[in-house]
Amino acid sequence: MESFYTLQGEGFHQGKAAYFIRLAGCDVGCVWCDVKESWDKNLYPEQSIEQIVKDAKKNAGRLAVITGGEPTMYQLNNLTKLLHREGFLTNIETSGSHPLSGTWDWICLSPKKFKPPLPAILKKANELKIIIFNKSDFAWAAKYAGLVSPGCKLYLQPEWDKAAIVTPLIIDYIKENPKWELSLQIHKYINVP
Ligand code: SF4
Repeated sequence: MESFYTLQGEGFHQGKAAYFIRLAGCDVGCVWCDVKESWDKNLYPEQSIEQIVKDAKKNAGRLAVITGGEPTMYQLNNLTKLLHREGFLTNIETSGSHPLSGTWDWICLSPKKFKPPLPAILKKANELKIIIFNKSDFAWAAKYAGLVSPGCKLYLQPEWDKAAIVTPLIIDYIKENPKWELSLQIHKYINVP
């Protein structure tokens, strides 16, 4: 769908220069999705893996973030292989709703109620990022914290349009449950993509 060089705004790698590769297509259907234009892959031309990586190399950073849409809808072995060969670290942001392929330096799993993750990805996740839209999402978060591996980083992130309401709830929750950390979409505060 698009590629752009910016700062990672969320989660463990927040603040780092990163080249985002956003793959078109998603069948998860989150009501609050902020990239609904990504859902229909037929709206975007196919690009070769070689061209994607060639464009990525034009920038100084060597952290590639594969996102979507839902990137696991694609077979990603060849893309991650070529990114690694060219010196990139490979991060993925996924709901885990399709089988994972590719070789990853960091897996950010953000499960969605609308289409839950496949069990196989749960123990592989380096980071669990739960979007808090309303109060019931805390129970959803606690359930998934019990399913990931012990070393997995745990983040709660306010849904952008509900941030004024849910951020104080998240702060209180983290103070009571300090294994969790707050993730903010800082790219939206500093006005970068
Ligand atoms: S999984 Fe991501 S891209 Fe797909 S609908 Fe949900 S927020 Fe949007």
